[in-house]
This record gives sequence, structure tokens and C-alpha cells, in this order.
Amino acid sequence: MKKVTLNNRRDYTVAHRHPWVFSGAVHSVEGNPAPGDTVCVESAGGERLGWGSWSPASQIRVRMLSFEPEREPDAEFVDGLVGASVARRAAFWVDGATNAFRLVNAESDGLPGVVADYYAGVVVVQLATAGAEHWKDTIVSALRKYVPNCSCVYNRSDVDSRAREGLEPVTGLLAGEEPPELVEIREGNVAYLVDVRKGHKTGFYLDQRPARAAVAAYAPSADVLNCFSYTGGFGLAACAGGAASVTHVDASTDALALARRNTDLLHLCGTKCEFTEADVFKQLRLYRDQGRTFDLVVLDPPKFADTKASLMRAARGYKDINLLAMKLLRPGGVLATFSCSGAVTPDLFDKICAEAAFDAKRDFQILERTRQGPDHPVALTFPEGLYLKGLILRRV
Ligand code: SAH
Repeated sequence: MKKVTLNNRRDYTVAHRHPWVFSGAVHSVEGNPAPGDTVCVESAGGERLGWGSWSPASQIRVRMLSFEPEREPDAEFVDGLVGASVARRAAFWVDGATNAFRLVNAESDGLPGVVADYYAGVVVVQLATAGAEHWKDTIVSALRKYVPNCSCVYNRSDVDSRAREGLEPVTGLLAGEEPPELVEIREGNVAYLVDVRKGHKTGFYLDQRPARAAVAAYAPSADVLNCFSYTGGFGLAACAGGAASVTHVDASTDALALARRNTDLLHLCGTKCEFTEADVFKQLRLYRDQGRTFDLVVLDPPKFADTKASLMRAARGYKDINLLAMKLLRPGGVLATFSCSGAVTPDLFDKICAEAAFDAKRDFQILERTRQGPDHPVALTFPEGLYLKGLILRRV
């Protein structure tokens, strides 16, 4: 049997069902496991704690698949995990308000390194770890079996983190028919075109669904500035919510082109829409110098901090854009500001925004806090699963 024994006093977290074993916690390895192989994990005292996937290239050496000591996970077990994860999303199909949501959220759904998203029948998978890659065929056939109306399973395993696992990026069709060039999804009364082959993440920021709804509620008659717009997400939600105008700002030509097409899909949209290709840091300064103001500003930047080491630089970046955005708000205006950097905790994000407000010499109240939606759950034993946080602030 392939077996990993943990160091004394480093077995506590796994014993408490945390899914990660860091390299420093590994005392010894038996049976010469290959990358992705399932290993039995034992405490320093020889107690069997469960089973996990072996990742020799990563600092996270083992990712736990099961805490049941007696049963080694096999294909049937992994198939069952996928089925259970999909079944937990049943309410999304019943409800029908959207046809795009996450089916499998990695560690927090008991499947480390495995992400699967549903876009109107098109299932897109992202396999980030050696263990996820090892179980690829089982995962794909399980998705085919359990996902209603699944037209295909498409692979978007081109995430940067694969390099840390010694894995090459791979993309392409895994099962079913080729997805259309753009998949049309629906969220409430808004349609979005999604490029599952080249789009960010698996194509769309599904994790911001609750925040889009929150922003739409503040949109009636508002002049909205949608920074880091990508394909329009928040701005389209604001249009549907009755905004007077929406200005999208993004550095990507392709993202803005899709934002335009998404706007065209909103037939009855009376909102005046502008699409500005620019660097947000510069554009906010330009609006400040021009004296241009808004009722609602959305700041949803890319991840500024990848690791704890880049945290200081990230904090400066967040403070800079928030300070500038705060100055562009009319009295009573609303700022919806987000951070998807896992290393920036909700507490730290509050502090950064408070400092920005102080320097902007403006007072704000917190109206709402947002998180990733319930299709992106966070296992209670895995706080690292919380990465997305947002504040909806009102200038008083
Ligand atoms: N708010 C979007 C997601 C944002 S993703 C949504 O809800 O769908 C981050 C976006 O920021 C990307 O589209 C990227 O092109 C853009 N971006 C990154 N750095 C930028 C910068 N300095 N200025 C403008 N856009 C930038």
C-alpha cells in the first residue's frame, strides 16, 4: 500500500478534516506513489486518518479525498462525489432563474483541484492538481451521467496553478459535441454570451451572481461606472436594473467587444452605454481631473495578490483605486467594491477601504457585504475556500 506518515504535531489539521498536507508535515512516504496516486495518510502515531492524492511537485503534497479510514477511494467513490456535488445544485435547475452555475467547487465539495461549471448544458471542467488529473476520465463520465441536459464536457485546464503541480496546460473537448463559439446563458432577465474556450476562468464570473443582483438594486436612474468590466457583468445587471447610463472600462478589446454584444442582447435597454478601453488606474484619475462624477461605481479588479508575499503591493493597489472611486461618487452615491484575492481577508479589505475613505476625506456606511454565491460554497473545515468578498458602501 502507498502510504504517507505525518510528522508529530503536524497531523492535527488533517485529523480535523482539513484537506491539505504541506510538504513540511510529511515524515515519510512508502510504496513510491506516482503523481496523482491515492495514498493512505497516517498520523505520527500510526493512526489511519484517511486517503488523499499524491502531488510530489507541489508544496501541498497530499490533498485529502476521504476521511474514512476503512475504504480506499476508487472510481466508484469519486463518481459518487461528483454525483453528490451535482445533486446539491438541484435547486438551480428547479428554480430556473439562471442556467449557469458551478457544479463542483473543488476542496469545498470534497473534490480537491476539481472545478466544473454549467453553462446552459455546456459543462466546463478545470483540473488543477495531479489528483484531479488522475481521476479525469471518472470525473468526465460522472458529469455526463449526473448533469441534466449535458451537451458536452469541455476542458479548460489552463490555469497557472497547474505549473506548480508539474502539469502542462490543456484545453479541448472531452465528451459530447463541440460547444458553440459563444454560449448564451441567462441570469434573471439578462443574457450573456460566454466564450468557454478563451474566456477568463471557465468563461464567466459565476461567483459574482449575488453581487450582480445587489448592484442592480442600486441602479435605478443611476449613472454607473463599471470598472474592470470584462464582458459587461455588473454593467448589464445595472442596465436591467434601470440605470440611466453605464460606462464600462476595461483594458481588453475582446472583453469590451463582448460587452457590446451582450448589451445588444438587452432589447429594451434604455440605458446609455459607453465602452472605454483604458487602464482603470489612469482612467479614474482622468475622470477626477475632468470633474466627472457618478451615482454608482463598481470596482471588480483581477486578483492583485497571488500569495501572501505580494500582499503589501496588492493592498496599495486596492487602496489606490478605492480612494479614486470614492472621490468620483456624488453625495449619497454607492460604491460596490470587491477583492477576489484569497490572501486579502475580509477584515483586511474593510481596513483598506476605511483607509481609502479617510484619505478621500469622505464618510461611508456599509450597506451590504457580499461573498461568492452558494454554488461556490466554502467547507467549514476549509476557510481557504473563501476568496471573494465585497462591500457595498454608501457615501453619506
Ligand atoms: N467585473 C468582471 C470581472 C473582472 S475580471 C465581471 O463581473 O465579469 C478583471 C478584468 O479586468 C479583465 O477583464 C481585465 O481585462 C481587466 N483588467 C485588468 N487590469 C486592468 C487595468 N489595469 N485596467 C483596466 N482593466 C484591467
